[in-house]
Amino acid sequence: MQSQPASTVSESSIASQTETTSKIELLNMTQEDLKGFFASLNEPPFRAKQVFKWLYHALETDFMEMTNLSLKLRTKLTQIASITDLPLLHEQQSQDGTRKFLFGLHDGARIESVLIPDEKRNTLCISSQVGCALACKFCYTATMGPGRNLTVAEYMGQFLGVSRRLPEDQRITNVVFMGMGEPLVNLKNLFSTLDLLTDDSGLNIGKRRITISTAGLCPQLLELSEKVPVRLAISLHATTDEQRDELMPINKRYNIKKLFETLRHCSTKKRLPVTLEYTLIDQVNDSDADARRLAKLAHSIHAKVNLIPYNEHPGAPDYKRPSAARIERFRDNLQKAHVRATKRATRGDDISAACGQLAILAEESEVPTSAFKAPSRRKTKR
Ligand code: SF4
Repeated sequence: MQSQPASTVSESSIASQTETTSKIELLNMTQEDLKGFFASLNEPPFRAKQVFKWLYHALETDFMEMTNLSLKLRTKLTQIASITDLPLLHEQQSQDGTRKFLFGLHDGARIESVLIPDEKRNTLCISSQVGCALACKFCYTATMGPGRNLTVAEYMGQFLGVSRRLPEDQRITNVVFMGMGEPLVNLKNLFSTLDLLTDDSGLNIGKRRITISTAGLCPQLLELSEKVPVRLAISLHATTDEQRDELMPINKRYNIKKLFETLRHCSTKKRLPVTLEYTLIDQVNDSDADARRLAKLAHSIHAKVNLIPYNEHPGAPDYKRPSAARIERFRDNLQKAHVRATKRATRGDDISAACGQLAILAEESEVPTSAFKAPSRRKTKR
């Protein structure tokens, strides 16, 4: 584990960055919302586009730097509006290049985001909630208990906070909603965030470069597939209701049959690419019979399977990772059944940034308070 160097600022500085104010938060607004906001100030609609570009091209957080706006308007915006700049409390970098960011929120809560660089892509895994109420037995986030939904500004604050810390010639190319929490519980804010990420006059991330991971909330899955055709990653992790009821209590509400009926509907109508995420846990869900049942489920919706060797963590001491031979056998069984099956390269497990390992527990609250404000980048006139 290596800590990234970070300039140190005082606790009062962190507090001032996270302070709740009565100001209007611009990162909560889509471009349409911004037009309405500027109309309410008797400003022409093109102001929305100008400010939108400052926010999402120049990654600017200071109204006074928005030099193509009049001084009068910049001063007014400083008085009545805000742009969330989440304080970075801690950053770690894995030996494999994965970076984990701990951000502070205005109410003292903390969330984690993970950047996974590879040759062609920079994939950002962002959190949707503080904690999670769905209580999956194997998940570290679940040990935080039910928390709260993130605002749109807190979603975008993660994206922009990490973007500002990338080298000048790099950008985030892919986004996965696989961090802390269940994104489909936070549907309204998720839709506004997707609108902002995909807006072609801003960040312009292609919909097929965005993946939403869900434990399988069926009504919300249908609504998502109707409105935004992104990639789906379904946290399946079991092949019988008995197993899944035990591992993922949400299965008692939406069982495997109901989930796959819903997925068939989503993938037929919008041709959404679906991946089944399957965490392999020793002696729990890694038998040959499990592989046969999983192959059948995958074929029923033309899904590919992503096998995730269990990442052990203190929140679920009874679960273990299967042996390498057992993992290979499981994958071979799937491939013999003509299922496209990959084994996820475990990234960042030396810094607990791997799948199912994100959590901020009370006993870990003594994190280094090395918060710092990232420099704005790409300052160009808009
Ligand atoms: S696996 Fe996902 S849905 Fe389940 S408890 Fe963890 S964060 Fe929540």
